[in-house]
Amino acid sequence: MDMLRNFFYICTLILLTFSVGLFAAHIYKTPQEICSTQGEKSNSGEAIQTINDISFLNETDLSCIIAPKSVKEISNIVRWINEWNRTNEKIHISVVGARHSQGGHIASKLGIVLDMKYLRSVDNPKIKNGLWTVKAEAGALWSDIHRVISQFNGYSLANKVQQSSTPFTVGGTLSVNAHGRSFSYGSVIHSVERLTVILPDGTITNVSRTENSSLFKQIIGGYGLFGVIVDATLELHENQNLKPDGEPFDSPEEYIAILTEMLKGTPRHTIKRDELGALESETLSPIAFLFATLSLDREGFMTKGTAYTYRHLPGVDKSGYVNSDPKPSLFNLRALVTNVGFWLKRKGLLVTTAQKAQDNFLMTQDTRLKLLTPPIEPILAASSNNKPDLLQEYFIPVRRMPEFINHAKEVFSNNGVILSNASLRFIPKSNQSSLLTYESTTEDQLAIVLYFSLELSKNRLAEAKAWTQDLVDKSFALNGRYYLPYQQWPSKEQFEQAYPNYNTFKGYKLAGDPNEVFSNKFYQYYLNSIN
Ligand SMILES: Cc1cc2nc3c(=O)[nH]c(=O)nc-3n(C[C@H](O)[C@H](O)[C@H](O)COP(=O)(O)OP(=O)(O)OC[C@H]3O[C@@H](n4cnc5c(N)ncnc54)[C@H](O)[C@@H]3O)c2cc1C
Repeated sequence: MDMLRNFFYICTLILLTFSVGLFAAHIYKTPQEICSTQGEKSNSGEAIQTINDISFLNETDLSCIIAPKSVKEISNIVRWINEWNRTNEKIHISVVGARHSQGGHIASKLGIVLDMKYLRSVDNPKIKNGLWTVKAEAGALWSDIHRVISQFNGYSLANKVQQSSTPFTVGGTLSVNAHGRSFSYGSVIHSVERLTVILPDGTITNVSRTENSSLFKQIIGGYGLFGVIVDATLELHENQNLKPDGEPFDSPEEYIAILTEMLKGTPRHTIKRDELGALESETLSPIAFLFATLSLDREGFMTKGTAYTYRHLPGVDKSGYVNSDPKPSLFNLRALVTNVGFWLKRKGLLVTTAQKAQDNFLMTQDTRLKLLTPPIEPILAASSNNKPDLLQEYFIPVRRMPEFINHAKEVFSNNGVILSNASLRFIPKSNQSSLLTYESTTEDQLAIVLYFSLELSKNRLAEAKAWTQDLVDKSFALNGRYYLPYQQWPSKEQFEQAYPNYNTFKGYKLAGDPNEVFSNKFYQYYLNSIN
């Protein structure tokens, strides 16, 4: 009888184990199942299995690209990959916005890419304590936000912080913690109230300065490595009238003297937040935007320039006018002229004329929205896969910037690099920024933004890598650093020196995402030692 009972128990146990196993096998979809059912297809019906960024230099083979249509869909995919990665060879998810980052931030080899292009709705703005916010899905471009906020219920609103132009997604901008040309606020984190995020186990959660507060500084500036940003609530200003001022200078030293004098006499903004991290009150600085352009013609190359200051005027522009940003075509003369002008500038031709036209344009930008919407599509259209336009940026303490500029000028002259833009932006010091921040806690910095095109060849690429490493070393000698969304040309040692917080960043990453659901080539190269 006992034997029979034991036999019965064993059979039940085997059956139970088998059915639990069967059940477990079906609580997630395999990567193959996910890709075959949800992967994007080309017009000819082929599965899309490669991706590149706007620099054309980072082509990566993928398992598939998925463009989710709902938050639930993203949550499921993330949860399934998390389950899969527990017991199988890992496959990684990367997130992609408008693909303007240029250093392998949007993909990992044979990974799955989530393209956020369908999640781009923008809610109506809301007012609390007299201050405005707007909630936007992460795939929204800044121009999508402007369409909703530029005219709303008799108000005209504008972003408090935004990168300098608009064809970038909210998720991409937040994930590099980008900055624009605003005087007061530095990087975009300073204008974010809250986020909705999908964590590596698929959980959908709120993140703010007071809710899951540690995640706030990991996810913003986190290069998609801690979770998927689904939406963000962003702080706004009214569309203030501005008074443009352009003051020519004859040397970087003269610019720093002008700037130092201006900084002495200019109060900074102040911000008070409530216990939920929402804005309670704010006083504005008299200056809204502040930047400079450096001359690129032969005579004044990186020596002369123009200092631009945009002061608040009383009143708000209710028209909500934004600059249009069309791709060049025969039917849009202005875009076509900008495109041809930029095409010549990249060759070092008619540079003075192009810079004069740029100056004329900047001096007419007399509202916050206008300054946030400079046309850039005709410029982006000049780039091609045999001559891409590339960007670099270095952050240097204000008083030491002339030394950096003088060095860079020699580097570019010696290497025959033709710059199509060189500008300076003010980055105020801050101890409230993202984990992997470029903002200094102790000193105001200037960012120098450098745009150049590269004739592609093995030699030119090797040279560019060498002179980039030289510029990075120079930035260190001046107590500065370089910006991360660009090519993987700085060495690993240079990365570690520029971002000494990298170990804490990696510690949080490994603790929060033990199954390495999220990854990309930038992470693998600089933080995880895989080429
Ligand atoms: C012409 C040009 C101008 C630029 N101007 C500026 C500027 O003014 N200021 C500045 O700071 N930078 C600037 N950059 C750098 C660029 O802003 C950043 O690379 C920015 O992230 C691009 O946004 P994107 O939508 O193209 O993001 P992508 O390049 O698609 O993605 C950037 C990063 O964000 C992650 N990501 C994207 N969406 C999400 C999401 N929803 N959730 C989680 N992670 C996500 C990606 O995985 C990736 O790591 C410029 C670059 C170019 C080429």
